Amino acid sequence: MVHVRVAEIEAYAKEHKVPIMLPDGIDYLTRYIEAHKCRRILEIGSAIGYSAIKMALVDPKVHVTTIERDLERYQMALANIEACHLEDQITVLYGDAFDVTVPGFYDLIFIDAAKSQYIKFFERFKDQLVIGGTVISDNLEFHGLTHSTEPIASRNLRSLIRKINAYITFLEENEEFDTTFLTIGDGLGVSVKKKG
Ligand code: SAH
Ligand code: MG
Repeated sequence: MVHVRVAEIEAYAKEHKVPIMLPDGIDYLTRYIEAHKCRRILEIGSAIGYSAIKMALVDPKVHVTTIERDLERYQMALANIEACHLEDQITVLYGDAFDVTVPGFYDLIFIDAAKSQYIKFFERFKDQLVIGGTVISDNLEFHGLTHSTEPIASRNLRSLIRKINAYITFLEENEEFDTTFLTIGDGLGVSVKKKG
């Protein structure tokens, strides 16, 4: 039973603090895939395969290529995908998203990896997105910190928040894409590639 497996993955993620998508974020993402009939999906940041599995379960015609650089998580993603019998629908690439060879074109690119590198992920893969295709970016609210006026004590966290805000500005100013920002889950950016 696939939904039992999925519930086990959710429980594991909670117990081991693996930052999988929040419930309303994953609901939005899967509904978007359904409504827009996205078939070829590229995900940056598989973790243990949770969001890739949820996206593949939308429709047997969906194919997800997903990238993970952490060996242990990559191996768990493979095991979880196998337990859900989704090997034919999901390809997991092991390595850094800036190093791995990623062939083909995509209807949807889901960015959910290192938050400090979002502009670079976007730039690396945007030409592999079809016209009318969508980039969805997770964690743009970063637990509410991106729009907070409270001072942030940690220097690293301050730098991270600055980079997420720079990405938000980058999307707002991007002429090739129309972006909508949603406060769903941990904050989503939905960027549609314009014609011409
Ligand atoms: N999308 C997953 C959660 C991903 S968590 C879900 O919702 O189920 C983010 C993951 O991105 C981490 O496992 C981290 O190892 C991976 N990651 C971060 N930077 C990366 C990079 N440059 N290349 C590949 N993977 C990366
Ligand atoms: Mg996320």
